[in-house]
Amino acid sequence: MVEHGAIHASGPDTDYLIIGAGAMGMAFADEILRGSKDAQVLMVDRRAKPGGHWNDAYPFVSLHQPALFYGVNSRELGAGGEDLVSRAQILAYYELALKDFEATGRFVFLPQHDYLPGGVLRSLISGRPDRKVAPRKTVDATYMDVRVPANTAPKYAHSERAQLIPINGLASLDRPYSRYVVLGAGKTGIDAVLYLLEQHVAPETISWVMPNDAWFLNRANIQPPNIAAEFIDQMRLMHEVGSLDLVLDELERLGRLLRLDPEVRPTKYRCATVTDEELAALRQVKDVIRLGRVSRIDDATLQLASGERIFPEAPEDILYVDCTADGLAPRPEVPIFAGDRITLQAISMCQQVMSAAAIGALELRMDSDAEKNAILAPVAHPAVPADYLPAFARTMENQKRLGGKMFCWTFTSRLSGAKHMPFFHFVRFMLATLRWPALDDERVAALLGDH
Ligand SMILES: Cc1cc2nc3c(=O)[nH]c(=O)nc-3n(C[C@H](O)[C@H](O)[C@H](O)COP(=O)(O)OP(=O)(O)OC[C@H]3O[C@@H](n4cnc5c(N)ncnc54)[C@H](O)[C@@H]3O)c2cc1C
Repeated sequence: MVEHGAIHASGPDTDYLIIGAGAMGMAFADEILRGSKDAQVLMVDRRAKPGGHWNDAYPFVSLHQPALFYGVNSRELGAGGEDLVSRAQILAYYELALKDFEATGRFVFLPQHDYLPGGVLRSLISGRPDRKVAPRKTVDATYMDVRVPANTAPKYAHSERAQLIPINGLASLDRPYSRYVVLGAGKTGIDAVLYLLEQHVAPETISWVMPNDAWFLNRANIQPPNIAAEFIDQMRLMHEVGSLDLVLDELERLGRLLRLDPEVRPTKYRCATVTDEELAALRQVKDVIRLGRVSRIDDATLQLASGERIFPEAPEDILYVDCTADGLAPRPEVPIFAGDRITLQAISMCQQVMSAAAIGALELRMDSDAEKNAILAPVAHPAVPADYLPAFARTMENQKRLGGKMFCWTFTSRLSGAKHMPFFHFVRFMLATLRWPALDDERVAALLGDH
């Protein structure tokens, strides 16, 4: 039973009201609780348990970057090395982290509560009167607006006979289908195809709707022994070659970027990661439908933005698997620190969790919003290749300033890639940042050209 009176009786209700118990809210809370001896934290979430979108994810999902630097700073996750933990492990981890928070005596979690503007907390279950809180600071840990298929209705219509499930439904099928049509080619679509193949579904019976091809990151290079080289090559190329396309081509030649079909130039860049083995498996699927987005499913006919596909199978033998939710759509950048409001955003490209922790750590070390915002600027989640350069440049600038302000934090926090770099790699990395500093706007514009 949640004790509603457990937070301060007088003065502000709490120091930090954190809206959202997803990965970002949890990483921020952890930083505040371990970095301060007296700060009080109240966390609310519409969901019953911490972990945010992982609560609704498909059972066979796992992290796509090492668990070694995911979660919260005060607790290890996974077996180390390349381990990618599963959804079940992630949810159990956040539950244990929450218990750690509660053990401080300075933390209260209100599950199944909606935060409404003006500091109103509404129980979604008890019918108790709304509670109004006046925190010293309100932390928006919902801003990334993560979407997963299980809780996002598809944008296309479908006939009644068309058998359409979100990816989660694959885990509870009780009969095989003659044809599986995977709709969507982001990380979720990749996971759906890989899962079907792992379950020995014949590749010829899989059709894959791919509105856009994307550049993939090679997961082998996001492992601690290789992180420094991954960054160094990118920094070097951005200074040495003349255009974004040449940077991408060279990264592909070096095995740092991958694509599904060597004949098709990717038009997306979303930080999805795959291994060489996964890519080889995905390439077994030959029926890749590149006719834009799905607009309607009529029984055995798929209507797409620039054409249609009629499957020969009977509608009851076709299973459409929805993977079209845009997990991390780009959000407008807003100042992170703004008076009594903190809006959690990535400050490192595609590293939302480390970002939330870094914001928490900086919050405890400095008072002035202007100074804090001058150290950490938001980095929008990339969607297309042209987003990659400014996001990378901003990441490098943030890292440099963060290292200058919080050197120890950067090298002792498990969420920070730097902690996991061998010392010798770190020295090479630092030397590289001197030789190839973060790109300025002029160089970014020159590399982008007509992109
Ligand atoms: C499938 C998938 C795999 C990923 N894998 C990785 C990975 O391997 N490595 C990595 O670094 N990143 C990964 N990410 C990205 C990373 O996990 C997410 O960016 C991060 O989890 C974002 O979490 P969040 O806390 O911002 O959002 P969420 O998880 O969406 O949490 C926000 C919470 O806020 C709550 N909420 C919203 N509005 C309100 C309100 N008004 N009142 C109360 N509560 C509210 C919601 O209920 C939700 O629980 C992955 C993302 C996805 C979708």
